Amino acid sequence: MNNSADSRAIDNSDDQPNVNARRRNLLKSAMTAALVGSGMGAASLMAPSASAASTPARLKNLVGPISTNNTIPAVGYAVYASDQPMRAFKFLRRPVGPKDVAIEIQYCGVCHSDIHTGLGHWGPQKLPLITGHELAGVVVAVGGSVSRYRVGDRVGVGCMVDSCGVCSECTVGFEQFCTKGTTWTYGSPTSDPTGVTQGGYSNVAVVKEHFVISVPDNIELAAAGPIMCSAVTVYSPLRHWDVRPDSKIGIVGLGGLGHIAVKLAKAMGAKVIVLTTSSDKVADAKKFGASDVIVNYDKASMDKYSRSLDFILDTVPYKHEMDPLVSLLKRDATLCLVGVGKADEPNQLAPITNVLARNSFAGSLIGSIRETQDVIDFCSQHNISPEVNLIPIQQINSAWREVIDKKARYRFVIDMTSLKKEI
Ligand code: NAP
Ligand code: ZN
Repeated sequence: MNNSADSRAIDNSDDQPNVNARRRNLLKSAMTAALVGSGMGAASLMAPSASAASTPARLKNLVGPISTNNTIPAVGYAVYASDQPMRAFKFLRRPVGPKDVAIEIQYCGVCHSDIHTGLGHWGPQKLPLITGHELAGVVVAVGGSVSRYRVGDRVGVGCMVDSCGVCSECTVGFEQFCTKGTTWTYGSPTSDPTGVTQGGYSNVAVVKEHFVISVPDNIELAAAGPIMCSAVTVYSPLRHWDVRPDSKIGIVGLGGLGHIAVKLAKAMGAKVIVLTTSSDKVADAKKFGASDVIVNYDKASMDKYSRSLDFILDTVPYKHEMDPLVSLLKRDATLCLVGVGKADEPNQLAPITNVLARNSFAGSLIGSIRETQDVIDFCSQHNISPEVNLIPIQQINSAWREVIDKKARYRFVIDMTSLKKEI
């Protein structure tokens, strides 16, 4: 097991500079072992003083020899400049600390948030930056204090990799609202070797145990990735606004978030109306569980559903007309926006819009770690899976273009075996 000196040396997650870094990060962007190897080891194999020869076999097979300070060589595809294509980036991950899990990333979903971040829609980033926060893979090493995971376990990681753990939000399980600043999976300033967290378009990750999600046996790893962000981001508001069998709701935008929202809401028993700008998605929307589809705010349909919906979840990533959506809400009902567009192109509502039927306009930020485990368990129980389109990492630049052009059907997921060419 790790002795306490080793633990202090490796686990610096609670030190003051890091807390300050997280504070700065919160202000800057709202969005933004011992039991290694066999799972039965008796020595702290990943402590900084350990020799590279004692690296657990599965981690070593994945990344090759590890340096004497136990930082882990990794490779991914990074944004080097917002106007240039992403390309391969070799970098170092931090050593596996006592509370850490090292994961072989086998798949990573492509979220529109990656695109907003990479193209600078939400402000400047420290580059090169590897995006990706829909990770799925297999545990290849664990720290000495890890109790929930063993080498070989199938796991996922979403948008968060750390939080203070002690503030008023963390202690009630809202890590995404940590008052000291959540550490996001990519782009958060930390003491990691590159100075910021690096995301999932890469071959290996080192993540604190608390932020690792267990993938049920009947969920394919390729499908697990998108559940880590897109599904929990819609599940959390569907639950918060109490969507249930007698609810009639609207889902706006049939993309990565929207299509899984339709499947989840249908499984919760709701009647779902999809609002889309793509007439060629009507049949798919119905296949996913929509009872009706409105294309481009078609007037006859909008009139038909006037003041009839209990809740609307809006996933559209860019500025769009919202007043017509509010006119579909019943008295006192809420429209929740999860799409987060360009910082300098905010959505607008006319002053009268919310007043007419005492409607609420809300937003929601991903979901907690507990909700992420809940949603993947819900998907497992209800046989729900995102529609996945596997791509090699070499196609990531054209995939981003297709997402922006609304051509994704419905979530690109990177198959990381394609990264082997880049090592
Ligand atoms: P996506 O796969 O691109 O889906 C977005 C859908 O919105 C598109 O398929 C399209 O649906 C519609 N759309 C796209 N551009 C549009 C435009 N210019 N005008 C009108 N409709 C448009 O994106 P996503 O990955 O689902 O992400 C959606 C948004 O949620 C992004 O802004 C992302 O950053 C944000 N997000 C937020 C959170 C959070 O915590 N709040 C978490 C994850 C993602 P139709 O073809 O059906 O019209
Ligand atoms: Zn996302």
